[in-house]
Amino acid sequence: AALAADAADRYQANTAFGFVLATGASTARTFKEVDALSDAFARYLVHDMGLQMGQVIAVQLPTSLHYPIAVFGAWKAGLIVTNVNPMYTERELRLQLEDSGAQILLASDMFLQVAQPVAAALGIHLMTASMWDFFAQPVAAAIREKLTASGDFTPTMAFTRMVDALRTGDELAKVGRRDHPVALYQYTGGTTGRSKGAVITHQNILATLKMTRDYLDAYDGPRSGETILTVLPLYHIFAFTVNFLLFFSLGARNVLVPNPRPISNLRSAFEQFEIEWMSGVDTLYVGLLNEPWFKTHPPKLRYAFSGGTALRPSTAEAWQKLVCPMLEGYGMTETTCIVSCNPPNQKPRLGSVGLPMPGCEVRIVDADGCSLALGERGELLVRGPQVIAGYLHAQQDSASAVLDGWLHTGDIAQFEPDGYVRIVDRKKDLILVSGFNVYPNEVEDVLSAHPGILEAAVIGVPDAVTGEAVRAHVVLRDTALTAEEIERYCRTQLTAYKVPKQLVFSAQLPKSPVGKVLRAQLRTAG
Ligand code: ATP
Ligand code: MG
Repeated sequence: AALAADAADRYQANTAFGFVLATGASTARTFKEVDALSDAFARYLVHDMGLQMGQVIAVQLPTSLHYPIAVFGAWKAGLIVTNVNPMYTERELRLQLEDSGAQILLASDMFLQVAQPVAAALGIHLMTASMWDFFAQPVAAAIREKLTASGDFTPTMAFTRMVDALRTGDELAKVGRRDHPVALYQYTGGTTGRSKGAVITHQNILATLKMTRDYLDAYDGPRSGETILTVLPLYHIFAFTVNFLLFFSLGARNVLVPNPRPISNLRSAFEQFEIEWMSGVDTLYVGLLNEPWFKTHPPKLRYAFSGGTALRPSTAEAWQKLVCPMLEGYGMTETTCIVSCNPPNQKPRLGSVGLPMPGCEVRIVDADGCSLALGERGELLVRGPQVIAGYLHAQQDSASAVLDGWLHTGDIAQFEPDGYVRIVDRKKDLILVSGFNVYPNEVEDVLSAHPGILEAAVIGVPDAVTGEAVRAHVVLRDTALTAEEIERYCRTQLTAYKVPKQLVFSAQLPKSPVGKVLRAQLRTAG
């Protein structure tokens, strides 16, 4: 909670957050404003709402200038934040609110149709933040009016009123220090199944920020006054930690883009701001590289971070040729985002997720938990001050668990001779063909390197003869490409047992809200 005040002292009237409006104009907030507004929000939560330390606030906002204020304000009030995907359906929202035990839901007026009935059913206080300023959404205003007119709902516009009041210079007293050890009930990405609630403490966050800053400082890392583009949603641990908290603490400017679609959102951000850094997942970079405007006028970035899912060598190569070096990193919700990263200012090493952060230990073990030799593939274990102590309600699944401080990541990895880490694949996604391991990432790399293929997802399907067989879902760039041609090409690149036995042509692949391909969904869809 002290982060906002410290940054305000140090960076004062520098811009902390910028936002491109629907009108094409842009708006911004300084470090001092973020601090003052979050003080006001904390005061409101404590004095007007009477919330107690350790109570839970669900923040369900699109990426916008309101987001940092909501989070810092809640922390200053000693509340625990649970970040919620703004696109959630009633069912998903309900699950997270119940599971996290939230007492209050801060939702945007654009999605009140979902938030209102769920909050009413659970008896949770609903607070509305108007997104009118940011999105000029006549729809949102209409929904709000309709709900108010129906008589059974009075939207609490306190958040918006509070922001407006402060803009007119109404200085309010701060709340006293209210430090609760827990910062977040952060739900995992839901890539392999139902999201689990990771209990992230302020200590975890401070540790992640410190180790990442120390690490990047030793190379040619981000500096105060530089700008990062935030396209990944802020409710997800990647953008929340790296873009929002890390760059904020460094005094950098954050350009917030709520949605990469339509892609013109990104175009105006690149045109209006000088941007040095950005972060993304593979599919976002592929999307940008496919845009004619992007290809003809590539922005002059210094570095791009990639994480969240494997970065295809073909994507990295194309990006580096056109734009800037790509720094792939690795992390997960359970490690407050960061485990390792490729250092800036070094030759980017394709296929590697770099070196572990200082103060973070990693091991690669076999099925019995014994450490493996360099180069051998096994499960990656992580221990360090950024690793959570556990999940809410002790939720775990067979793939990830914390034992004696060691997080079992559920990811298969190997060390390079000099200690760089390579992520091979998820344990759950491994395919066993006649007793041979097939890693879907490897097959997907080969497929997506074909010029006629846009993207591909590979899963295992039951097979009477081989136990499991490899099935590839392929999105074509060149629609004339045939299954026979793809098979022939795969045979030149892969041993026979890895070559997809089944090929499915798809118009698109199912993806999580941050853009990870959902292999689990392809498996259940049959
Ligand atoms: P869930 O745990 O709910 O199934 P999730 O694992 O996708 O979802 P996150 O915590 O957002 O939720 O993602 C962490 C996972 O993302 C890692 O365990 C790893 O599988 C994958 N990942 C992250 N970075 C990389 C990377 N650079 N290369 C390959 N995989 C990565
Ligand atoms: Mg996971």
